[in-house]
Amino acid sequence: MDLQDKTVLVTGSTRGIGLAIAKAFYSRGCNIVLNSRHAIPEEVLKQLPDNNRVFSAIGDVADEKEAQYIVEQTIEHFHQIDVLVNNAGINRDMLANRMSSEDFQAPIKTNLIGSFNVTQPALKTMYHQKRGSIINISSVVALIGNIGQLNYAASKAGLIGLTKTLAREAARRHVRCNAIAPGMISTDMVSALAEKNQEQLKKQIPLGDFGSPDEVAQAAVFLAENDYVTGQVITIDGGLSMA
Ligand code: NDP
Repeated sequence: MDLQDKTVLVTGSTRGIGLAIAKAFYSRGCNIVLNSRHAIPEEVLKQLPDNNRVFSAIGDVADEKEAQYIVEQTIEHFHQIDVLVNNAGINRDMLANRMSSEDFQAPIKTNLIGSFNVTQPALKTMYHQKRGSIINISSVVALIGNIGQLNYAASKAGLIGLTKTLAREAARRHVRCNAIAPGMISTDMVSALAEKNQEQLKKQIPLGDFGSPDEVAQAAVFLAENDYVTGQVITIDGGLSMA
């Protein structure tokens, strides 16, 4: 897909990986729809200065109606949706024996059901356009597991199943669906970990350090641009998940 003038909706794009992805597509000449549950901060908007190419659609992807409204606003504003990046995500880490049902469900509601909530209305337009690329931000823990992240890993593993199934269903309508499985990436989610834990984690990574949001964003741009890739999971993890 030639990205110039295409419309890209990135959920959860006010910081971290989502913001890096939004900026990467912006720099390729795309129209960008930013999203989060809260108003988009001024300092974020300053990083994408062309007002004509940037629109904010505030809403909680975990809420079916709000998710639908995010997509409706995108189409009303830019009249198309070419790339959807399901990036909004939360974690609620806890050991399995102490995890409440509510704690188990919270990441599933945002990460998995939230992605479905946005994907379904976007698909209708993509099918009509006979063009589209959906990119789901999963996680390396979906592939290898991680102590304390039963709920999060389940949500991200579900997203891989969703990705592969949708890739099969949507291919004949020229819509592609792929996933990215980042490892440890330097964002608020990771800096919330104690410094000692961060150092221990780095020792497990063959490349010896955390990745950057921009390195994940590069993969997203590749997946949107390359018309012959679908149903794939690209791992960006410094070698963490190598067998
Ligand atoms: P951050 O916590 O830094 O940012 C998350 C973004 O999502 C924010 O913009 C937040 O804004 C938004 N958000 C959260 N919940 C919702 C919701 N229900 N509806 C709409 N927006 C929402 O996360 P990261 O940048 O670290 O992670 C981004 C994605 O990458 C997530 O899916 C995460 O699981 C995944 N990932 C991250 C890794 C890492 O090492 N950082 C590793 C592997 C995967 P607000 O709170 O204002 O709504």
